Amino acid sequence: MEDIQQIRDLLAYPKDIIVFSHRNPDGDAMGSSIGVKLYLEKLGHKVDIIFPSEFPSILTFLPRTDDIVIYDFEKERALELIKRCQLMFFLDFSSLDRIDALGEHVISKNVPKIHIDHHLDPEPFADFVFSDVSSSSTSELVYRFFRLFNNCIFLDEKIAECLLTGIISDTGSFKYSASSETFQIASKLMEEGVDIAELQNNIYNSLSDKQLKLIGYSINQKMELIPEYDTAIMALSKQDYKEYEIQRGDTEGLVNYMLMMKNVRLAALITEQPTIVKISLRSKGDLSVQEIVKKHFKGGGHKNAAGGQAFAKLEDVVSRFKAVLPQYVHN
Ligand code: 5GP
Ligand code: MN
Repeated sequence: MEDIQQIRDLLAYPKDIIVFSHRNPDGDAMGSSIGVKLYLEKLGHKVDIIFPSEFPSILTFLPRTDDIVIYDFEKERALELIKRCQLMFFLDFSSLDRIDALGEHVISKNVPKIHIDHHLDPEPFADFVFSDVSSSSTSELVYRFFRLFNNCIFLDEKIAECLLTGIISDTGSFKYSASSETFQIASKLMEEGVDIAELQNNIYNSLSDKQLKLIGYSINQKMELIPEYDTAIMALSKQDYKEYEIQRGDTEGLVNYMLMMKNVRLAALITEQPTIVKISLRSKGDLSVQEIVKKHFKGGGHKNAAGGQAFAKLEDVVSRFKAVLPQYVHN
């Protein structure tokens, strides 16, 4: 990035900095945000993280999660921090609507803005943009940012653990969009002393029995196969959320199970939320789910993993999804 010297100048003296990431933060949003916070703190900055909404409890093994400000719960505090802040980072999202109402406060605040992300179609809201859609994760890009910034001299085990969490989460343990550079960076991060087996256990082997039973129930009772379009769908209603005491984060990863079937190239998890219906799509190969959500569900993401939403009835969203399938899945 040609502007790196300007960023070095911006970070040369202690500042009040905010790191923002997207609503329903996942392992990459959390890992990259906390990684950036810890790194910048070593440079003497005061760094706060603001997320629009709560993070999954499974990710509390990461360092300093108690310090994160959730806008849904602490609006006043978040706005106060924005008022004082001198520099902003935006991690792991490409459009401002991903940070809900925070977006307008951010736009009207005239401070330098640094955007690091790997989603398609980045909106031009920042002064410095470090975007690469071929990167496995924002955490991988954050590592490359540190390398460019000062050769990673402040990297340590905790920061490496955060960034590895992001890489492992977004690649499904190096299964999706992991390049040779992803492995090289993961290797460098491991050299900081991270216990990778423990980290994998924290990320993937930490479900409660209730959460695992929800996976069983969903696959057994809720999955619908549409063989002519190589597609599998799961729809969870408010009633399911109540009956199975489903909490935020519990459905994370559920959509991926459907891709485990050899003949399924497109998987959809459609969930009825308090106000919206959320759609989460995954695909194999050239089939772009980003195109589907962008056109029909006000969403975005990546070619093989994307999400969107609709203000409609659950059944109507399911029908709309089925109706557009022929346009996108060709045999
Ligand atoms: P998930 O299906 O796990 O929620 O998200 C998959 C990918 O799509 C993630 O990279 C996420 O950031 C993106 N994504 C999910 N929901 C939305 C949405 O409503 N709008 C946009 N622009 N991207 C989304
Ligand atoms: Mn990501």
